[in-house]
Formats: sequence, structure tokens, C-alpha cells
Amino acid sequence: MTQSTDSDQHGFKRRGVLFVLSSPSGAGKSTIARKLLAAEHELSMSVSATTRAPREGEVDGRDYHFVDIEEFRRMASDHEFLEWAHVFDNRYGTPRAPVDAMLHAGKDVLFDIDWQGAQQLFQIAGGDVVRVFILPPSMAELHQRLIARNTDTTEVINRRMARAAAEVSHWDGYDYVLVNDDVEACFRKVQTILAAERLKRSRQTGLIGFIRKLMH
Ligand code: ADP
Ligand code: 5GP
Repeated sequence: MTQSTDSDQHGFKRRGVLFVLSSPSGAGKSTIARKLLAAEHELSMSVSATTRAPREGEVDGRDYHFVDIEEFRRMASDHEFLEWAHVFDNRYGTPRAPVDAMLHAGKDVLFDIDWQGAQQLFQIAGGDVVRVFILPPSMAELHQRLIARNTDTTEVINRRMARAAAEVSHWDGYDYVLVNDDVEACFRKVQTILAAERLKRSRQTGLIGFIRKLMH
């Protein structure tokens, strides 16, 4: 599914990276995703559809496409999702068409999706997918971050905490596992992973042509 994208000064083509960030809610993946998007101009965000209500400050079409359950069901039955899952009491899904368009335009794509989404994406796109899991330094710190974020009721925070251990148990479905202790340090590691993955030989589809020319 992944298109080739222009690469460095040698004119190599390379396959786009489908870069997945997952974490238990509150560990900091949105914070890191925002920093990464600001720093990486060849990276575009996949905006998911969700049936959950917008949080204060969230913008429809930027943070999520907020849809009702009927619209979500229609999108699923019309195969408009690359993957979708139940998370908490809501449904979340990745619309397929924008991802195809971003890859076609030569972008890498960033996904903020849970382990179920990472698993489904890996089944579809295999070697193009890079899965990064972000851990909090402790469960107590995770709780503090959810409180400090000030976006959820105590009941919702308690449910997120109750689910956190189950999410962490999927750590071995990821290529990289990082602890988000210092946000700058964690961000730099994520950036390093993206840079290295972009350079992987298996993504350099134009390399063979360059090698041929080099040998003559
Ligand atoms: P997620 O997207 O994983 O649910 P967020 O990115 O919304 O998490 O982060 C949850 C809260 O924790 C936010 O208020 C954010 O500013 C804060 N946060 C993120 N990373 C760190 C960190 N390394 N140290 C302290 N607070 C952090
Ligand atoms: P939140 O409600 O905090 O924005 O997100 C809750 C969880 O749903 C997070 O773990 C987030 O990564 C996940 N999520 C968001 N969008 C999608 C999606 O399109 N697919 C899947 N599988 N998970 C998603």
C-alpha cells in the first residue's frame, strides 16, 4: 500500500514510513506526537475518527473527526477504515483515504493509535510499519499526569488507570519501547528512531539503480 517518496540528494526513492505511537493514556504520546510533527516536515498526522465527545480545546478535523455511532458504522461497513477498534466505551478508526493520499504525496504518516490498531496496521502493511510504545516512569506518575492534564473527570481517569496495565501488557507487540521520563529526552529518542528507520536499506527502493550506475 505504501508509495515511494522522494529521498535525499542522490534522488533515491524510498518507501514511506507508517510510524505508530502508542501508550497508556496519559503517558505523553500526544505531547511527543505534537513535537515530532513540528520538527519533521515530511511527516503528516493521520486524524482518526471517533465516537467520543470532544474534550475542551479539541478541534473537529484537527484532533479527531468526531462522528456519531451511525456514521462510524457506515464508514466501517463501507471499508473506509484502515483499522478500527473499541477503546474505552468508544470506537476509534483510521480513515484510509487520507493515509493513501499522504503516502502518495511523499510523506511519512504518524498514527496515535492503540495496540489493537498497531496490530491491524502491521497485518496490512508489515515492514512499512514502525511501532513505538511509550511507557510512563511509574503508575503513580501516570495518574498524576492524567490529573494534571485536567481534561477528564475522576471517573474517566480511574477507568483510564484501570486499563493502563492491560495496555502495558502489549509492550511486546512493538519494535521500540521507551520510558517518557524527561519529555525532551524521550522526544529525541523518537526522532532518532524515525531518522534511522527512514534510512533502512529495505526502504530505499531507488538504491539498486544507484548501485548499478556506481558499478559502471
Ligand atoms: P497521552 O497522549 O499519552 O494520553 P498526553 O501527551 O496528553 O498523554 O500527556 C498527558 C499529560 O502529561 C499532559 O498534561 C502532558 O503535558 C504531560 N506530560 C507529557 N510528558 C510528560 C513528561 N515527560 N513529564 C511530565 N509531564 C508530561
Ligand atoms: P483518547 O480518547 O485519549 O484521545 O484516545 C484513547 C485511545 O484511543 C488512545 O490510546 C489512542 O491512541 C487510541 N486511538 C485513537 N485513535 C485511534 C484509532 O484510529 N485507532 C485505534 N485503534 N486507536 C485509536
